[in-house]
Amino acid sequence: MSPPIPDPISVRRRLLQWYDRHGRELPWRYKKGETPDPYRVWLSEIMLHQTTVTAVKGYFDDFTTRWPTLNDLAAADLDAVLHAWQGLGYYARARNLHKCARIVAGDLGGQFPGTAPGLKALPGIGDYTAAAIAAIAFQKKATPVDVNIERVTARLFALSDALPKGRPRIFERASTLTPQSRPGDFAQAMMDLGAGVCTPKSPDCGVCPLKVDCLSAHQGNPERYPVKAAKAPRPVRYGVVFWAVREDGRVMLRKRPEQGLLGGMIEIPSTDWRDQSWAQVEASRQAPVKGRWRRLDGVVRHTFTHFHLELMILIADVDKKAGNPKGALWSTPHKFSEHALPTLMKKVARHVSR
Ligand code: SF4
Repeated sequence: MSPPIPDPISVRRRLLQWYDRHGRELPWRYKKGETPDPYRVWLSEIMLHQTTVTAVKGYFDDFTTRWPTLNDLAAADLDAVLHAWQGLGYYARARNLHKCARIVAGDLGGQFPGTAPGLKALPGIGDYTAAAIAAIAFQKKATPVDVNIERVTARLFALSDALPKGRPRIFERASTLTPQSRPGDFAQAMMDLGAGVCTPKSPDCGVCPLKVDCLSAHQGNPERYPVKAAKAPRPVRYGVVFWAVREDGRVMLRKRPEQGLLGGMIEIPSTDWRDQSWAQVEASRQAPVKGRWRRLDGVVRHTFTHFHLELMILIADVDKKAGNPKGALWSTPHKFSEHALPTLMKKVARHVSR
């Protein structure tokens, strides 16, 4: 007998029934009968981009306690937002979040656009996020495809085109499933199914509401999907951090340029991050203040999406006569938490303190 082709009507009915009983309770989710708050939906979707639900929960609670409404967030200082964002990574998202809040609160009279194209015109909102907000907050027939929905769809239809090239086909198939009614619940149900049942390594087809419709389950090889093209190895970049410490124990910090990686965050001064490693003498010429720079044992390693970074640390005791470069901030390490230091720089501070 040939396997069935997933029937959208059957998939919608079974999945929504399952969601009504087994959907996750999350801080940003509305309950049945409640009207979704676009601010909370938008905030959660921006936070969830490239981050796990577990990691986001605490940040979401913190943000909505500090800034319960869109207007509150729009009125906040960017530095306060960046500071609260610390640890979530991808700081450009926090800057765009703040920019977007100001545009919606100001130019748009406090109302988010209710359609995916309108949402996509705002800073920090791409195809996926626009579709997710349109579906979840405004009940528009839009199809967000995150990593969970991608996996469930690829398995349902046994789509064997390797990612990333296979994404348009997955999107096209996922779109055929999106219902006119309850599109937001359907999207969240797909996400929940992917997170809890149709997991990457061990899909639990025995308890899955879609097993009768699922081609890969019928074939007996769901783990094969989605097929992924071999990844190019991440390159390694190298940089040098200057730990300049004054007699009063304060260490030099400064703000990174607004544009680029970790833009607008506070850093312990560093060189460019480049493809070749640095010789100590060469790096010392780029130190922000004069001093007898010596190398600390070991290096600090950190991985960004597109590259690994290896930081050498040079340390020097400096006195006030050595100068105070423009933009320098001086802080004792136990007060670093008062600044918007990214995880990478916290690693550096921990390494030095050890
Ligand atoms: S039947 Fe199995 S492979 Fe298919 S959607 Fe459900 S858990 Fe995933």
